[in-house]
Formats: sequence, C-alpha cells, structure tokens
Amino acid sequence: MSTASAPDHRLPLNPAGPDPATEIAQRIGRFIEAWREQNGIPPIWRKPLVAIATASDPLFTELRRAVAADHLMPEDLLPGARSVITFFLPFVRELGKANQAAGSFAARSWAEAYLATNQLIAAINAMLAEKLDEINHRTAVTPATHNFDEKRLLSRWSHKHIAYIAGLGTFGRHHLLITAAGCCGRLGSLVTTAAFAAGPRPNREYCLARAGHRCSACVQRCVYGALGDGPFDRHKCYQQLLSNDRHFSELPLVDVCGKCGSEVPCSYGIPASSEKTGRPGATV
Ligand code: SF4
Ligand code: SF4
Repeated sequence: MSTASAPDHRLPLNPAGPDPATEIAQRIGRFIEAWREQNGIPPIWRKPLVAIATASDPLFTELRRAVAADHLMPEDLLPGARSVITFFLPFVRELGKANQAAGSFAARSWAEAYLATNQLIAAINAMLAEKLDEINHRTAVTPATHNFDEKRLLSRWSHKHIAYIAGLGTFGRHHLLITAAGCCGRLGSLVTTAAFAAGPRPNREYCLARAGHRCSACVQRCVYGALGDGPFDRHKCYQQLLSNDRHFSELPLVDVCGKCGSEVPCSYGIPASSEKTGRPGATV
C-alpha cells in the first residue's frame, strides 16, 4: 500500500474519517520511524496494525468471565469512554529467528526488543493522547505490561483480549493473538472519549489447530510445561519468564520467553491455509 499521501502524524486526527484505523496506523508508522531515529534504535519493527473497538461492545463484559472477574471496563479507566484503540507492533523476523535459535533462554535481542517496545508503546500512547487532546478528547492508557495480579497471574486490562474485541486477530493455541502480521510482536491499547467507527472481527480462526488443521508447532516449542494437551499452565509460563529475567539480570525487568511464537507457522502472518479470510486489521 502506498504511503505517499499518508497523513503526517503531526496533523490533527479525524475520528469521523472514512478509515480511522488506517489513518492511525499510518501515524504510528511514521511516529515509529522518527522515534527510532531519535533514540538510536535499529529497525526491529514491521509496519504497525491498528483496530478499534467501541467501548460499549458487549464483549467487554465477557472479559469478566473469560479473563478475570475484576477485569476493567473502558468506562472504569475513563468515564465517558467511547472507543478503545488497539495496536500491534510486529517484530522483524530476525528477532524471532534469533529467539528460536537461542536455546532454552530467550535471545538477548528478544529481551532488548521487549524493553524497547514497552518504551515505544508508552511513547505512541502519549502521541495519540496528545493528538486526541488537540481535538478535545480525553484518553486513558495502561502500561504495555506488568498490569496483572502477580498471585493469580490474571490481567485486569488484557491487551490481547481487548485487541481481539477490536478485531485485530484471533487467539492461537499458544494463547497469543495471531494478527495479519502474525503473533511475533507486542500489543498496546488506549481508551478515549472520541467516537471512532469500529471494524468487524475476523470471521474465522487464524490458528491452524483451532481451524481444524494439524499444527502443534507452538506446543513443541514450549519445553517448559506450560503448553500441552491440557489447559494453559500460566504459572509454569510465568516461571520461565522470571527465569529469563534472572538470566538477563543486568537488564531491567525482562519477564519474556516467546519461544512458542518464534518461527512457527503463525509468527509473521496468518498461516497459509487460513489466509484470505476476515478482517485482519488496518495497516500501512
Ligand atoms: S503454531 Fe500452529 S497451533 Fe500454534 S498457534 Fe500457531 S498456528 Fe496455532
Ligand atoms: S512463553 Fe515460553 S513458557 Fe510461556 S507458553 Fe510460550 S514457550 Fe511456553
């Protein structure tokens, strides 16, 4: 898709535009390039994806059953909330390859990408909040991570479930969200009083196994006992994330792993046999 006529990220946002998700994706794409250069960060992200949910979508109330009984609603974060903007920042394949090749611990490049992406998500949210403030709308953001109950390991604002509601992708057997750009990357979201039009959700499963095809690549990658035939063992998964944090003790908190999403059929796009279906989210 051409970006020649894309709006500059410094211009005012237009919630009533014909395709606000694409407009925001274009802004984020340009913002990332400028931010990378400013901060001397190599090109570790592919083009961003954006999808928008209306704050009144009835699926939000389902999160109290599916995720946590005390999961927050958009209105809890921001009285008067009308929309939730979700975005996915996909990693370049080199990161997934390095992570897969790194043995039982995560690759150092993967851990560093996690830290840089958390900073980037905060910067994107600040940029979007500023743009929305210019048109007299309020926003509320939650951090990209570490917003969960450490005992229950349940998030009170699950970015991946919010992104699912917005139509950014579908869940894989590995419990990650599979987007049009795959699952290898990180999600962010913010709530706003601006009323953006929401898009539809994908109309079928992107995960091969969930679509009825043979695939257990992610399960085979997880040698830590978290993924298998039974329910996802979030405690075993979290132990491995903390193990990586100890391994990279010279870095700030890096509770990462990502082996189940690295170099599997859904890492960088919708797996081949489930392509050309549904709405994968706007990109540039
Ligand atoms: S690796 Fe295969 S089974 Fe696992 S989430 Fe991806 S497509 Fe689904
Ligand atoms: S992140 Fe690591 S420990 Fe958790 S499910 Fe994936 S491979 Fe297993």
